[in-house]
Amino acid sequence: MNVDKLRKKLSDWTDLEAPTGFEEPVLAAAKEALTPLCDSVSLDVRGNLYGELKGTNENAPRVMITAHADEIGFMVTSLTTDGFLRFTRLGGPTISVLPGQRVRLLPENHPPVEAVVGVKPGHILKGPEAQQVPRVEQMYLDAGAESEEQLREWGIETGTPAVFVGELISTSHPTRVFGKSIDNRAGWLAVLEVAERLSKERPQVDCVFVLTVEEEIGLRGAEVATKTADPDVVIAIDTVPAGGTPELDSETLPWTTGAGPLLKVRETSGLSTHGPLRTLFREVADEHQLPYQLIVDTAGITDATSAQQASGKIAALTLGLARRYSHSAVEMLDLDDLKTLIEWIDHGTRKINNHQQLKRL
Ligand SMILES: [Zn+2]
Repeated sequence: MNVDKLRKKLSDWTDLEAPTGFEEPVLAAAKEALTPLCDSVSLDVRGNLYGELKGTNENAPRVMITAHADEIGFMVTSLTTDGFLRFTRLGGPTISVLPGQRVRLLPENHPPVEAVVGVKPGHILKGPEAQQVPRVEQMYLDAGAESEEQLREWGIETGTPAVFVGELISTSHPTRVFGKSIDNRAGWLAVLEVAERLSKERPQVDCVFVLTVEEEIGLRGAEVATKTADPDVVIAIDTVPAGGTPELDSETLPWTTGAGPLLKVRETSGLSTHGPLRTLFREVADEHQLPYQLIVDTAGITDATSAQQASGKIAALTLGLARRYSHSAVEMLDLDDLKTLIEWIDHGTRKINNHQQLKRL
């Protein structure tokens, strides 16, 4: 697959603004993209999107391949009389990058409103204060309004969501890009590309491609989506904070951007990935000479952890993408990792053909 095409597609997905609980723009685009590839597409009331693709062997397991729709963001908690906004975080934007950051407010039925996180000028910061990041409760958004009334005219109210601003930027490196919401539009693009490949030549297994909501605030959508989809296998695709930068040595985060996709043995809390499924994917990677990194994730957690709890019959696995500067407006990804991940999921899904493969004993 052509990396330039992948870059363009990723850029279209990261341009969409869909903070947790406000995923509609991504759900709508994903529904449109999945419809021609699947036998049926549906949404539950919660917002989770399902695309069904019938396999060629009715005795084969049912496989759910999933990524989350939402991105981290912010939510207005109050308006001040002189036209500033207090806010809370949706999910976990990195607090230390917030002062001076551009954000975009997304009021209902009004055009988006540009804003910045206000920051005390360096000229007057003295002593320890100059070395410290303020608490989120001390921060505020400035949209350039003169008053609370003006903010209200622009449609801003308590509960208005906001996101980081930052289009996908190509670096001078042939395959590295940075931008906002690479977590998890890159994961979703992988699912979609796999759906396209599998729809052209169907695998033995029935597949359900699932785009979940509310991952960033506690893996919530995946729990209900898995109960609805009722799979035997869950493959969750997500991004993972990468090491390999000057402040993160190889003992803290041994996996790096550009060294292949990630196969998790375990994640921060909960999931230990399913042994037989892990072995199957490792064999597939070896067979097709795909580079990958085996990791014990001490820094993150994915939808596989909550999906695994939906029933005792589920074999769950997380495949990931190492990206730098997690939960900032400048997350950095290597598109080669994404390309390899797509091939890996495609080949791995085709290798699953009977329930015996999933038995631990
Ligand atoms: Zn994520």
